[in-house]
Amino acid sequence: MDEATFRHWSSKAADWGADYRQSLRDRPVRAQTAAGEIAGQIAQSPPETGEAMERIFEDFETIIVPGMTHWQHPRFFAYFPANAAPVSVVAEYLVTAVAAQCMLWQTSPAATELETKMLDWLRQAIGLPAGFSGVIQDSASSATLAAVLVMREKALAWNGNRAGLAANPRIRIYSSDQVHTSIDRAIWVSGIGEQNLVRIPTIGERRGMDCAALAAAIEADRKAGYIPAGIIACTGGTSVGACDDIAGVVRVAKEQGLYVHVDAAWAGAAMICEEFRELWRGVEGADSVVFNPHKWLGAQFDCSAHFLSNPDDLVRTLAIHPEFLKTHGQDGIINYSEWSVPLGRRFRALKLWFLLRFHGLSGLREMIRNHVRWAEALAERLRNEPGFEIVTEPVLSLFSFRHAGGSDADAHNLALVKAINDDGRIYLTQTRVDGRIAIRFQAGQFSMAEEDAETAFRTIVELAKKVV
Ligand code: PLP
Repeated sequence: MDEATFRHWSSKAADWGADYRQSLRDRPVRAQTAAGEIAGQIAQSPPETGEAMERIFEDFETIIVPGMTHWQHPRFFAYFPANAAPVSVVAEYLVTAVAAQCMLWQTSPAATELETKMLDWLRQAIGLPAGFSGVIQDSASSATLAAVLVMREKALAWNGNRAGLAANPRIRIYSSDQVHTSIDRAIWVSGIGEQNLVRIPTIGERRGMDCAALAAAIEADRKAGYIPAGIIACTGGTSVGACDDIAGVVRVAKEQGLYVHVDAAWAGAAMICEEFRELWRGVEGADSVVFNPHKWLGAQFDCSAHFLSNPDDLVRTLAIHPEFLKTHGQDGIINYSEWSVPLGRRFRALKLWFLLRFHGLSGLREMIRNHVRWAEALAERLRNEPGFEIVTEPVLSLFSFRHAGGSDADAHNLALVKAINDDGRIYLTQTRVDGRIAIRFQAGQFSMAEEDAETAFRTIVELAKKVV
């Protein structure tokens, strides 16, 4: 591609992006295509000769876009958000254009130094103490895997990497059943084995681990010859926003000499508002904390902020030092690839810099507080609507509800979710609470307005009457 053509198509892509964002309200939120419909329109084999950009771009618009679920749609209320504020998209255009591989300080000093600064800005923003250092991971799953590997290494006196799976069968990790499945996967991938992930029963409305049961399980395991290594706590679990009593978990961990990782992938963004910090009271005692600015803060996917009270443990677990990666004589600098499983790294800090400077913390706080307020108001309206039941109360901007109907309540609510998503005005997903289907609602879109909560209410009530 020559310079002029690159310039033309780059501006065309940026213009397309702006038009796309403007058109979102008029599109169905979830892709309305059937399985295989998109694949069926893609050539069976790669072209032997190059094609015209006009044709490729046209196919993007006619084949690909209809098969996209619109995660930036203001009425995306499913899962958790993957918010990309327009300003972070602009930063990503620049990152894409520069296309640096930022594995070491010397492979792009600005990327490393900005990352250090941005993680410190975020640390201050969410109220973590100055002792924490941060790194951007590609996902919360990777941060959790890294934390589990540190737990394994510390428990095995830094011999697990060398000794491998054979050294691990008696390691134990503790969590509730409210944590994300990425925790289960970290346990398998680290070789610890799912039988050694001990589920602690939850108590109370917040569905947090029973700390007395946690201490008892650790004691019992020690007596039985297991090696308790760490605890994974959650603030804002994926299903219904469960929150462990972090202070209580940390107290048990300190008594038992265990490592604590806190997964606040979604809820962590809300900690920029002081009034929500009681949800993770005691977090300053944790060893490792992750939250995803790409979920609710507006930093384009992907961007996971991973904070560590002692990053040396992580580096000791993950760093690799082949000759070609040695930075000869440049001690005192950070090579973030030593803090994560992947070696190669994108320049992820730029979008945070743009985002935080453009909106300021007060702008982001206003967005989060609005979402919480609108979700609470919607829960109240549904509670007062005949046939509806609030199953779990709002935790920040997430609650779950159920509609009474039909002889099989689960089938009825699944049918309602399907009807809602086929309708296209809003997008919701279901979960299971105490064995029964419930419908989740979370407000978190950067471009959401109060009227979108109104549309959600009308759509849910209207379709509930129609579903049989
Ligand atoms: N933890 C929680 C609480 C989540 O909700 C999710 C995803 O939604 C994850 C972890 C996994 O996040 P990631 O996709 O960044 O690995």
